[in-house]
Amino acid sequence: MSWEVRASNGIWLPQIGWWLDAPRAAARAVVSHAHSDHVARHREIVCSAPTARLMRARLPGRRIEHVLRFGRTEPLTPESAITLHPAGHILGSSMVQIHSAHGSLLYTGDFKLQPGLTAETCAPPPSDVLIMETTFGLPRYAFPPQAAVIAGVIAFCQQALADGVVPVLFCYSLGKSQEVLRALAPAGVPVMLHPATLQLTRVYEEFGMRFPAYGEFEPRAANGHIVICPPPHNSPGILRHLPARRTAVISGWALDPGAVYRHRCDAAFPLSDHADFPDLLKLVALVRPKRVYTVHGFAREFAAELRTRGIEAWALGRTNQLELPLGITKGSPVPH
Ligand SMILES: [Zn+2]
Repeated sequence: MSWEVRASNGIWLPQIGWWLDAPRAAARAVVSHAHSDHVARHREIVCSAPTARLMRARLPGRRIEHVLRFGRTEPLTPESAITLHPAGHILGSSMVQIHSAHGSLLYTGDFKLQPGLTAETCAPPPSDVLIMETTFGLPRYAFPPQAAVIAGVIAFCQQALADGVVPVLFCYSLGKSQEVLRALAPAGVPVMLHPATLQLTRVYEEFGMRFPAYGEFEPRAANGHIVICPPPHNSPGILRHLPARRTAVISGWALDPGAVYRHRCDAAFPLSDHADFPDLLKLVALVRPKRVYTVHGFAREFAAELRTRGIEAWALGRTNQLELPLGITKGSPVPH
């Protein structure tokens, strides 16, 4: 017997009747973390305490919550048990391990191996089957050291302030904003946060996280502050009353050529809450799986990369280009 894994708007495990990160309402779903593309109005969920709290802040409503502590194994169904492990992506983000007669299965959710300032340090366990995110699954995505990127962000902000303009950092409201806010502590400059970012930062504080001084964004009082707000497509018009500004996007996609033009900002810094390509490979080496399924981003390319290294790997829900002799390639559906 082996695990049956299906991908259709989330990951479905038919042998135990649970979804993993279903983006549409489901009867029973394990939620790896509270980013909007991983949550929905499910009837019953399993997740970490911070994820449950962040979900309540972002997606109010009634549901049955089973809150698990990291590292503690609990029954999931009569035939299976579940353990959550820190994923290092945002506060409370979890890798989900399920144990049954089919063996052990590890679903990474979004993850980051490099220790950050605001997420629990990633701790992946060995597993028979690995379902992993591959957002940055191409070799060109190798991030520079985080300390160097953060030093660059601080220098950017200090130069803007010295030039008499307000530095504005575009960061997603959950996770990246809190990471950047903490990283800015050495700059000693007061920070203003977009209201949505501020609300989620307060949730982090409920879990004991401490931040440098911050307040709510007020354009008329922004001089001398650093402003953190979501990318413009998530907060249109918010900067209308802040003409004297210099903007930067903080994202792993900053490594793409033309990132500054695409995000319509003055600078781009590659600080990510995901694993880069070298760390995706490192994860596979740590977990030592018999089979890998890839999801998100460059899933097909990364699965092909793993196969060249002798590891059985398939992109979930995609057509996999199989490498055949004589340079022939052939499309093949994912085996179940
Ligand atoms: Zn995420």
